[in-house]
Amino acid sequence: MPRSGIEGQGSAEGRSRDPRGEISLLAVPLPAPAGGRIVNRRRFLKDLMTCVVSGGLFGGTLLKGVARASAIEAGKKPLYGFGVQVDKCIGCVRCVAACKNENNVPKEPFFFRTWVERYIIKQDGGTIVEAIGILPHQEAEVITEKNVLRSFNVPKLCNQCAHPPCVQVCPVGATFSTEDGVVLVNNKTCVGCRYCIQACPYGARYLHPETHTADKCTFCYHRIKKGLLPACVEVCPTQARLFGDLKSHASPLTRFKRMNKIHVLKPGLNTEPKVYYSSLDGEVR
Ligand code: SF4
Ligand code: SF4
Repeated sequence: MPRSGIEGQGSAEGRSRDPRGEISLLAVPLPAPAGGRIVNRRRFLKDLMTCVVSGGLFGGTLLKGVARASAIEAGKKPLYGFGVQVDKCIGCVRCVAACKNENNVPKEPFFFRTWVERYIIKQDGGTIVEAIGILPHQEAEVITEKNVLRSFNVPKLCNQCAHPPCVQVCPVGATFSTEDGVVLVNNKTCVGCRYCIQACPYGARYLHPETHTADKCTFCYHRIKKGLLPACVEVCPTQARLFGDLKSHASPLTRFKRMNKIHVLKPGLNTEPKVYYSSLDGEVR
């Protein structure tokens, strides 16, 4: 989805190369030292028992309980990933709102770290794509139920690529990959040149209008390092969004990948995304 609303915002032109050492609005804690564990085994077992005792084993809470546990499995360095069950997304955009609150994303609709695209496939074969609540319909025609062959919602976010073009083009090394598989931006060293925004093939970055530094989804790095779920996963009422450790056999993400036919976005680009989709329609770009 093109970020047409971004282009006029916060131009970096004419600004000095101010390292902005004072800016902390979007500060993300830098990765823990190698080998650092997130939460100890006692807490892992406590969370698991809470899930079982509360009846979560037989209800929807199991997925979230195990998702939390998977993120904190002791003794191994995690490799974080994300799952999207397209057929479960109802387009409520609670995830988008929760992300904005959690990460100080400006309230204007054209700034976002995650978004949800509604695809409408028409009887005549045409396709309409709109980012729900963000960019208006491009087409003036009225879509009636009779015209619609099928429609579905596709949550999107930074793919935390294993081969991230955004990292490759950053001239000052301000954006980098952590050893647990998350691409972060150091907003103390980002100079706001926008190279990474241009390089990202998924439209996942924007220039923050206050800090004038690049911003994007971090899987809520400050939360997952405490053993919490990303805010969007936490609030999703249908569990369309999943989070976990790709190295853990107990992770709901691992199970999700094993049990479903999985796709990633733009696989031909060789970016190796770590956001995995099930029930992804061939029309999705
Ligand atoms: S909160 Fe869940 S169901 Fe609602 S739009 Fe986001 S992903 Fe879809
Ligand atoms: S989706 Fe875009 S911003 Fe995220 S890691 Fe890949 S290239 Fe970088």
